[in-house]
Amino acid sequence: MSINWIEAALIGTGAIVGWASSRRLYRQSTRRAPSSEYLAGVNFLVKDQPDRAVEAFLRAVAVERDMVETQFALGALFRRRGEVDRAIRVHQDLIAREALEPGFREQASYALSQDYLRAGLYDRAETLLLELASGGHYQIAALHDLVGLYETEREWERAIQMHRELSRAAKPEQPAAIAHYFCELAELARAAGDLPAARAQLRLARKEQKKFARAALVRADVAVDMNETDLAVRLLRGVPLQSPALAGEVLSRLVRALRSSHRSAELPQVVSSLAANGPEVADALAHAAIVAGELDASALLELARAYVAREPTVAELVESLRPGEGPLPEAMLKRLCAALRRQALRAARFRCGECGFSSSNFFWQCPGCKHWDSQKPLSPSDLTAGRGGTVRPR
Ligand SMILES: [Zn+2]
Repeated sequence: MSINWIEAALIGTGAIVGWASSRRLYRQSTRRAPSSEYLAGVNFLVKDQPDRAVEAFLRAVAVERDMVETQFALGALFRRRGEVDRAIRVHQDLIAREALEPGFREQASYALSQDYLRAGLYDRAETLLLELASGGHYQIAALHDLVGLYETEREWERAIQMHRELSRAAKPEQPAAIAHYFCELAELARAAGDLPAARAQLRLARKEQKKFARAALVRADVAVDMNETDLAVRLLRGVPLQSPALAGEVLSRLVRALRSSHRSAELPQVVSSLAANGPEVADALAHAAIVAGELDASALLELARAYVAREPTVAELVESLRPGEGPLPEAMLKRLCAALRRQALRAARFRCGECGFSSSNFFWQCPGCKHWDSQKPLSPSDLTAGRGGTVRPR
């Protein structure tokens, strides 16, 4: 019973994989009854009193230093409380025991790698995780952690390599991740002025994901750099059809592509043809134009008119102020759009569909939960409903 209690308490620490292994080994290695101090520690965990649990486990360790189970519980609690130095000492002490069973040694190595990750000691974590990723009980968990570590360190080539190993060992949770890594490499090459290298990386991204919106956007950037405006526009036209949420990314690039080649007069025609793909694309473009303050083109202003008429919160406000008076005059529509823009700029404009992280900037990978492609733009209805949250600066 005690093992189940402590197991439940440790779920929140992410230690359950290790705990299950520890329980199996515990059963194999000892038939001794747990000490009263150990049981007291478990009881404090159940009562959500981690400080008192730590005290009880420390007393249990003082009495029975060889109780590996207690050491693991203590190490996990220290890490959970942010006392990473103490967690590291507990796990290093376990690893240093010559008589420790191989299964416990593996578990202690993984626990220590988690301490190092938490402490930001990435080199040390990497060394342990690479050993664990070569096989054994923690192989998949270690590969996952290595992918996350290389993403954090922006070591995209290592991330690609590790993600491929993960794909061989298990089904990856985010199959589009490798295509994003190639896009990151393409953007780095482009920033360094190496456009052929950027194009090569984008070809590899498209090999990973056939219709990949980000690759089209970056390829359009490269096309603009090379004064290939027609190609850039053609690429950008396809993106909102794949992902209307990226309308803002498309619009800013369209404006840049046409302006840089002195062809801004073509913007209304391009926008109209894009909007003809359906109300979802039209509304996404209109919202992006309002937030960007890009309403000079008549086609965009008309899209914005249709958008505010359809947007429930805004339409109700307008109707309450001008009951039955028909379409807004142009000057009033522009003032309304300017007010909506100010409101959008004051709040978060994007929200992660996975974890709810809100931000004023667009991220391909959510800084909160590390999901790729999970951020979506917030509409005025979202903002008035309080779904935008507060902006978290990075
Ligand atoms: Zn998230």
